[in-house]
Amino acid sequence: MEIPPWVERALARLEDAGFSAYVVGGCVRDALMGVRPRDWDVTTSALPSQTNELFADERVLETGLRHGTVTLLFPEGPIEVTTFRTDGVYRDGRHPESVQFVGSIEEDLARRDFTMNALAFNSRTGLIDPFGGQHDICDTMIRAVGEPNERLQEDALRIMRALRFSACLGFEIDENLAAALHKNRDLLTRVAPERFCAELLHMLVGPFVLSVLLAYPDVLAVLIPEIARTVGHDQKTPYHRYDIWEHIAHAVAAGKADARVRLALLFHDLGKPDCFFVDEEGRGHFYGHDVRGEEIARARLTALRFSNALVEDVSVAVRSHQASLRPENVLRWLSDLGEDRLRLLIDVKRGDTAAHSDDVAEKGRANLALIENRLDELIAQQACFALRDLAVNGDDLKAMGIPEGKEIGAFLAYLLDAVIEGELNNNREELLAAVKLR
Ligand code: ATP
Ligand code: MG
Repeated sequence: MEIPPWVERALARLEDAGFSAYVVGGCVRDALMGVRPRDWDVTTSALPSQTNELFADERVLETGLRHGTVTLLFPEGPIEVTTFRTDGVYRDGRHPESVQFVGSIEEDLARRDFTMNALAFNSRTGLIDPFGGQHDICDTMIRAVGEPNERLQEDALRIMRALRFSACLGFEIDENLAAALHKNRDLLTRVAPERFCAELLHMLVGPFVLSVLLAYPDVLAVLIPEIARTVGHDQKTPYHRYDIWEHIAHAVAAGKADARVRLALLFHDLGKPDCFFVDEEGRGHFYGHDVRGEEIARARLTALRFSNALVEDVSVAVRSHQASLRPENVLRWLSDLGEDRLRLLIDVKRGDTAAHSDDVAEKGRANLALIENRLDELIAQQACFALRDLAVNGDDLKAMGIPEGKEIGAFLAYLLDAVIEGELNNNREELLAAVKLR
């Protein structure tokens, strides 16, 4: 296993001072898998104050002294150094009541969530792997350290971490852990929304999210209850090959690996069960499910404390996902949504389309390519689609004697509309002449 020299130097400094020190957790897992770790964590027998002292010549952040964590800020990157510890009782299923420093690396590894994360390494001792983590990594298996129900009851965030790792790494979830995820799912309501959301987004953009969505809708439904009624809901239409939840899952997985796109796809059809009706020929329809979907997205995302910007972007995409985009009306949609949200909508429609029956998917794909080309063209031409792009402004109209306020606003809106419809060209003389005529 390879450790970068600057991390190696930090371990050596701790060991030279008589402490034991290891790289630990996710970084060991990633390195064993040949993936470059996102961050390096070190665990040591040194107390935080001792680590602090040893690295007095470096920039040190006292990130979580109470939990025994100190962050060393090296020019090459940060290293989180945590003292060997166990977690005390989790009375609220959320935060350990207390942490206790312990003497051995094995005790520290025992508090960690999954066997693949309960690994430590240094060049002197080699790999420390008391729970068979390396074997489980080779087996691509996520297994709890210890009894899964107990471990999830200590910290319910582990439920989402299991789903997230499965979606990101493509690992299977061991049978006992899987049963415990279903059984303990209601504990997710105790998890702080920010922590749940971070894991949810991470999971959604994972390359293997499809099988996780198909297998765990009941878990996600704890915080997004509208998911429950989509599971097994036959759509009774030739346009679809899947039930509603399967369609949603395939759409998410087919969508671009971007948080907003996949979140919008997760919500896009959640309004369907409320809008379902079957016509005389036995065909299913879902009129208004886009509007209902927007309500659901707005309510749930707000409750989960996503940022206002994200709630707004995703809700608008859900509301618009049925829009009939054609090369002729791209300018109109560009004007209504702005470039960023129109590109988001195109990506959402790509995922949605891919999860329909084959011929619908084929046509949809081709059409969206045309739409995107047209949009690129309009942007390159610096087409006029917003008031700020008009060749006249409020001052021009005021100079013509139009009273300030509402009336100027209405005139400008009229001009923009006429330009977008192709009734007027966006040049100053033509626009001013049109104002005079009105
Ligand atoms: P990532 O690739 O997202 O960084 P990671 O496994 O490194 O994955 P971190 O949140 O960085 O996750 O945590 C580092 C290590 O701390 C984990 O590998 C695991 O050993 C331990 N850990 C983190 N969160 C928990 C938890 N909720 N319960 C038990 N152990 C945890
Ligand atoms: Mg990590």
